[in-house]
Amino acid sequence: MKWKDRDAKWQSFLKSLRNFILFFSMVAFVVTCCMLLFVTNMSAEMGITLTEMDVQKAAKLTLGNTLLISVLFAHIDWVRRKLMVDRPVKRITDAAEKIMQGDFSTRIKPFKSAGGMDGFNAIIDCFNRMTEELSSTETLRTDFIANVSHELKTPLAVIQNYGTMLQKPGLSEEQRLEYAKSITDASRRLASLVTNILKLNKLENQQIFPSVAEYDLGEQLCECLLQFEHEWEKRNIDIETEIAENVTVNADTELLSLVWNNLLSNAFKFTGDGGKVALTLTADENYAIVKVSDTGCGIKPEVGAHIFEKFYQGDTSHSTRGNGLGLALVKRVVDIMRGEISVESVYGSGSTFTVKIRRA
Ligand code: ADP
Repeated sequence: MKWKDRDAKWQSFLKSLRNFILFFSMVAFVVTCCMLLFVTNMSAEMGITLTEMDVQKAAKLTLGNTLLISVLFAHIDWVRRKLMVDRPVKRITDAAEKIMQGDFSTRIKPFKSAGGMDGFNAIIDCFNRMTEELSSTETLRTDFIANVSHELKTPLAVIQNYGTMLQKPGLSEEQRLEYAKSITDASRRLASLVTNILKLNKLENQQIFPSVAEYDLGEQLCECLLQFEHEWEKRNIDIETEIAENVTVNADTELLSLVWNNLLSNAFKFTGDGGKVALTLTADENYAIVKVSDTGCGIKPEVGAHIFEKFYQGDTSHSTRGNGLGLALVKRVVDIMRGEISVESVYGSGSTFTVKIRRA
């Protein structure tokens, strides 16, 4: 402890001692006066005459006793305060100081509930919940930085390597084209990563205000699906659609097309050549229900629990064609639209993503 702190503590101790003595002397004085009044009145009523000596003796005795009792009770109260107030306050302030120094793992042990510590235990409970929240936010932040750095490094390394190779003399036309294509692919991945991070950031910070309009969901789904025509033809993937007519929703077209594009792109990405992708739209009284199914690799239950987390990639064999942000974006958009999203999957057989959006 620093000298300055020690000095301040000593000063405050002296101050409280002075207040203490003043207060109890006053109490003792008042009690003594009352006692003397009472004794003189009583003796007058009983016809006893008190000498000055008697009165002085009684006054001294009463003052002494009152002071003694006061000091005794003050001491008991001091011990009680030390145990019941100072000790928990110190425990809480020590923990708060540790948090200020960046140690978010700090937790305070609650006091045994007997002995009137419920108030402090309530504060400790809030404090522990706050530190838990802080440490999870800190973990998310550090994880996010680590993930972004990792995702940025991979395409950057590809660009660097192929850039160096392109500078070598005597390259054939075929090699030149191949290296240039790799550079273009890697920079496209970088661009998509940055776009996704920015979009997610905007969605999470509520900087995107959905421009809601009523439109035909079936039409939008067909348009999105058609963007993958080249892919399903090239890879001989069977397409099955069942789109109910006149299902309109009140939603942001751009944000919802992000959802369908991501789900369809995953369905094609994780389905082998010759597989099947199905898109259905049905409606009940309140909701439009969209299902995107595939006969791809499926999702293991332990993977399924994390797929909506940022940067999570369950199947790393396809990692070159994604960055684990797609479903995090989808989930955020569905949440903003107050919809629901769920997934059913059988590992090795395929998956079905179901999205429910409120009808217009
Ligand atoms: P990315 O596709 O870039 O890896 P996503 O956030 O879109 O990131 O998906 C997260 C993970 O969810 C994927 O890595 C994959 O393991 C799993 N996943 C998503 N869609 C499917 C699907 N249709 N079939 C199998 N696995 C899927």
